[in-house]
Amino acid sequence: MSRISLILLAAGSSTRFALPVKKQWLYQGTIPLWLHVARQYQEAFEFDEIIVTGHPDELEYMRQFADYTFVPGGSSRQASLAYALERVTGEWVLVNDIARCCLDKAMVRRVLEHKDRADCIVPALQAVDTVYYEDRPVDRTAVRLIQTPQLSRTTILREALDTGVSFTDESSAIHAAGGRVLFVEGSTRARKLTHPEDLYHLDCLVPPSPQTLTGYGLDIHAFEAGKPMILGGVPIDSPVGFKAHSDGDVAVHALIDALLGAVGMGDIGEHFPDTDPRWKGADSMRLLEAVLTRIRDCGLEPLQADLTILAQAPKLSPYKDRIRRRLAQAMGLLPARVNVKATTAEKMGFIGREEGVAVHAVATLGIYDWSKMS
Ligand code: MG
Repeated sequence: MSRISLILLAAGSSTRFALPVKKQWLYQGTIPLWLHVARQYQEAFEFDEIIVTGHPDELEYMRQFADYTFVPGGSSRQASLAYALERVTGEWVLVNDIARCCLDKAMVRRVLEHKDRADCIVPALQAVDTVYYEDRPVDRTAVRLIQTPQLSRTTILREALDTGVSFTDESSAIHAAGGRVLFVEGSTRARKLTHPEDLYHLDCLVPPSPQTLTGYGLDIHAFEAGKPMILGGVPIDSPVGFKAHSDGDVAVHALIDALLGAVGMGDIGEHFPDTDPRWKGADSMRLLEAVLTRIRDCGLEPLQADLTILAQAPKLSPYKDRIRRRLAQAMGLLPARVNVKATTAEKMGFIGREEGVAVHAVATLGIYDWSKMS
């Protein structure tokens, strides 16, 4: 039996999808859509390997969900497919877009059963409506609406995509390369998730779980004379600032680590290494925004945060409320959902000696609930 690899394309930026979350990260229960699709295939069929393309910035995170082969996507569907094909070891490759998220097993079986009868096996639907081409009606029985997944001979597909011409699917690439394309009956169930309304018509989708995720962060910075002090995004009247590669906003750094902890994306140093000149003197609120965007892209949203600032100096009571409001605004939350506490160290240790400040933070995230969208 010839070997079949599965490629799932999940690197799209969802720019036309008017939701704060990327399509591939809309949660189905407790898992993202891309994994929901991969598991449907994995449970129904046997593949030699499963290759998933993802946005380069999200790949490391995707690896924490499953042991597939993850490949960074390119700037287009075709570029992502070409990168994924480099990794394919199977003689045949089945390619599916994550947006084609509901698996019609009978249809995929029809595609797989026709292996070896052509170079590309394609599910297609007959046109049921009257079809016009420009201003003239055409014979609709001759019209085919092409779907995915399509099964292709790996070597021919690689060569076909190597020509530099752009194609909208595998069958047109293989057709252009002189390969043989065979049509099998498609399925109206194999609809694509293109617009948010489609979420209500796709019967395989599962509403997201109401579960919450909690993370913890701790950061410590030493004082440095002659630097402005910024704490929680608020300028503080102080003769010293914080020694740091960035602006040294120790409260925002602790909050970022709490958020990263909840989502499961490592720590602040992995995202903004202090060896990178881009973050020299950086406004930490910008780093917070970048982290929040990453979190929202991946289907989660902040619900609540609680910070404790340990400082002998400066005196923080005049600033606590401003810090709370600034952080709440950055996270799109009510000030009631962002608590800021301050305490001294009773003159003990490095904090008591006024050498620096430590901040502890806890943050809670929820799963973005697309099922309540109106
Ligand atoms: Mg720090």
